Amino acid sequence: MKLTQRDKAHIWHPLTQHKTASAPLAIVKAKGALLWDEDGNEYIDGIASWYTSMYGHCNEVITAAMTKQMQGLDFVMFSGITHLPAIELSERLMEILPSNQAKIFFNDNGSTAVEAAIKMALQYHFNCGEKRDTLIAFEDGFHGDTFGAMSASGIASYNAPFEDFLLKVERIPVPTASNLAEILKTLDQILEKNSCAAFLFEPLVQGAAGMKFHDVIGLDVIIKKCQEHKVLCIADEIMTGFGKTGTNFASDQLTEQPDIMCLSKALTAGMFPLSITSCTLKIYDAFLSDEVHKGFFHAHTFSAHPIGCAAAIAGIELLNSPEILVKRQWIEGSHQAFVEKIKEHPKVKNARCKGVILAIDLNIEMDRYGSVRDKLYQFFLDRGVLVRPLGSTIYLLPPYVITERELEKCYDAFDDVLKVFK
Ligand SMILES: *Cc1c(COP(=O)(O)O)cnc(C)c1O
Repeated sequence: MKLTQRDKAHIWHPLTQHKTASAPLAIVKAKGALLWDEDGNEYIDGIASWYTSMYGHCNEVITAAMTKQMQGLDFVMFSGITHLPAIELSERLMEILPSNQAKIFFNDNGSTAVEAAIKMALQYHFNCGEKRDTLIAFEDGFHGDTFGAMSASGIASYNAPFEDFLLKVERIPVPTASNLAEILKTLDQILEKNSCAAFLFEPLVQGAAGMKFHDVIGLDVIIKKCQEHKVLCIADEIMTGFGKTGTNFASDQLTEQPDIMCLSKALTAGMFPLSITSCTLKIYDAFLSDEVHKGFFHAHTFSAHPIGCAAAIAGIELLNSPEILVKRQWIEGSHQAFVEKIKEHPKVKNARCKGVILAIDLNIEMDRYGSVRDKLYQFFLDRGVLVRPLGSTIYLLPPYVITERELEKCYDAFDDVLKVFK
């Protein structure tokens, strides 16, 4: 029996309406930027499996580091115990994170990193003797699917059944070149009427919103204003982290530094579920007390999993290796040339790129998960390119190791969309 048929018997897939969805693709093998299905068809992984496999699938540097780790120390709980992989990873992260970050808290996935960040912020104020109960977040942000993270997320199609059970969140639009004065007015009102604990944001690029870019200067001004009001700023770099926007972190392009950062996805090169919530010393110090419960009583069983830490250490080494740096710059240049080429096309509403992210908003009407979007998804698959259109936005975020021929094939598929879709 084929895998797609066996799948149907017992598996419930994420983000899927099983009544209408077509069968999933059964992937049996992966290498570099390529995936193969059970019928032997080859696909380019155009979004690096949700922005994780940036150094390519089955990268031998990473798998070797993981193999070595699992033969020496597989797993041990992390409460009351420490180990070299976690220590070494914390040291490597300190070398590349913004200079104000000082402490590393380990979790096991993106949503739990955000959840820990929100709890950290709320308890920070609590420990300082203040009850602050409101979060500030951007419209159309995405921060994950657990309750705290979901509360901060502004994509309504995910949240409707849970609206009554969410944390208190006030929203502001993302800054563009023209709306900053308006945002600051709204922000002032929010700060005045509420007791705000934290501002949670995806810096510079909102991934799930359709690779929406925002203004660097505007974001800096918003962060500054929040920090003036002792509102902790949490940069969710789960998507943008580890080189996607051109710099190691999107926050590197800002003047103001976040108080807390969330990392996952490419952290472990797509090899292992692991995440980080980092923070400044000021926040860490607010949890020090003779009262036990002023500590941060939050844990996940698989926190700081040694095998994930080993993958992450190897990944960070690759991130700024000469070979990967050359590829990152080459992809950025190729994307810029492609945007120049297609931006005046009548079916292109907006074409943009930043780092290795390329996004095109099409002049085609469609729902986020509607039938035209599904046709578009299939259209790319038929051309051997796996991407996930977000409504009428198509985008690429290829692994850094993608070859010239493979990247050309992705661009050709984008060109074909402009020719074929009405
Ligand atoms: C993917 C993502 C998350 C959630 O991470 P999970 O590991 O899927 O829980 C949170 N924030 C951003 C910006 C993301 O891209």
